Amino acid sequence: MAVVKGEQQPPLHILFFPFLAPGHLIPIADMAALFAARGIRCTVLTTPVNAAIIRSTVDRANDAFRGADYPAINISIVPFPDIGGLPPGVENGMALTSDVDRERFFEAAQLLREPFERFLADNRPDAVVSDSFWHWSADAAAEHGVPRLAFLGTSMLARSCTESMLRNNPLETVPDDPDALVLLPGLPHRVQLRRSQMMIDPAKRPDHWALFQSINAADQRSFGEVFNSFHELEPDYVEHYHRTLGRRAWLVGPVALASKDMAGRGTDALSPDANSCLRWLDTKPAGSVVYVSFGTLTTSSPAEMHQLARGLALSGVDFVWVIGAAGQALDTSEWMPEGFADLMARGRRGFIIRGWAPQLLILDHSAVGGFLTHCGWNSTLEAVSAGVPMVTWPRYADQLHNEQLVVEVLGVGVSITGGKDYASSGEVLGEAIAESIVRLMGNSEEGDAVREKAKDLGMKSRCAVENGGSSYNDVGSLMDKLMARRLPVMGVIIGSIMHAN
Ligand code: UDP
Repeated sequence: MAVVKGEQQPPLHILFFPFLAPGHLIPIADMAALFAARGIRCTVLTTPVNAAIIRSTVDRANDAFRGADYPAINISIVPFPDIGGLPPGVENGMALTSDVDRERFFEAAQLLREPFERFLADNRPDAVVSDSFWHWSADAAAEHGVPRLAFLGTSMLARSCTESMLRNNPLETVPDDPDALVLLPGLPHRVQLRRSQMMIDPAKRPDHWALFQSINAADQRSFGEVFNSFHELEPDYVEHYHRTLGRRAWLVGPVALASKDMAGRGTDALSPDANSCLRWLDTKPAGSVVYVSFGTLTTSSPAEMHQLARGLALSGVDFVWVIGAAGQALDTSEWMPEGFADLMARGRRGFIIRGWAPQLLILDHSAVGGFLTHCGWNSTLEAVSAGVPMVTWPRYADQLHNEQLVVEVLGVGVSITGGKDYASSGEVLGEAIAESIVRLMGNSEEGDAVREKAKDLGMKSRCAVENGGSSYNDVGSLMDKLMARRLPVMGVIIGSIMHAN
């Protein structure tokens, strides 16, 4: 391509390479939509089953660019590496049901390095946003001279906690007792978990510890990191990341606010219950319904489902409950308490969604006044954006840290466990669930304060992505940085053309 002085530069081209699980693919597709709206050409590299999951989000985003020379967002589809042993079509974390399959899946997924490198060599994008789990993508991108932006898809608070853990290994001096308390040093807040709750324990899983060390090191030697978060949400951790850790990070979220695909986002098979659920919500008073969902990977035991059903019944609050594949596989006699089915009869008190729920539409519905969540980061941020306060029931990994942000730091949620170790007994009591729902949604000073804060945070989140907002500006500054990297190369081309003339 001949480039002459004064001619407009071609748009930036960014390759997105998400990990193969909905909680990673969904925010990446939204981020591509958000970047495309700023004039960036985006390509998402993924496999056929995962492409189907994000197809409708990408198509809706591209509708806005009809008539342009090229689609703003392309999906580059590569086959899922076949190493044998996995059933056909198992290409996504959500489809894994055994540890053996999980290991095979991870082994096969590593082979995506080859098509990733081929894409870089053939297309020379300006940058790649690749998942932190693809830690080898840092070196692969560097070998091709492409700056890599790492994306893990969690909060800055949770990412800082993992960093503290990996840097300090506080477990070394903690007794080998699941209830022993572990303090994560060097963070803006006092963060303490029980040993059994720690995401990685080097004494028990040295392989996981080594993997997370590789991930952290790869993120650190990358060009920078992008977060689906915004400055006003966790300013202490933005400061901590930039100043204390000296890491370069851009906060570009909440990316879900860029989605034009409110209903079909994240699936090619929306639950047949979706429309009737929305119609049912239309009949309910404002702020009267609690929405219950545990995301895409967190499963509940029959005992936990039983307690949850008891809690919903006892709370007296109307509810929408999304029951995922594992729950659907159970016979209702394994978990449903007596009388619970009557609550749903004629849609009086409750609605159960089997399959994929249109979560953004539900959270945005005026009837929804609370979200009982596992605190996956996407769900948490979607609740924040919708101004909906949360009842929190985290199970593992970053969910525990996200709960801390929601309940202790931001004050927009009520914890079911309240730090108690219900998990080791395998049960969260229905009474504790009911009490938390009532505390959040009932008429009380506490409930009013939490709701007020949630509303305020929702407004701040929308301001962050609007023209002039903090996330809008971070996207702009990232684009400037990437353009500036290009200029020396363009200068050489321009210089040689002028010299030749
Ligand atoms: N989600 C949805 N409908 C469902 C289940 C999940 O739209 O029935 C979406 C949800 O809106 C969120 C994502 O799937 O964007 C789940 O991500 P999160 O980080 O909350 O949890 P994970 O599944 O990764 O644990």
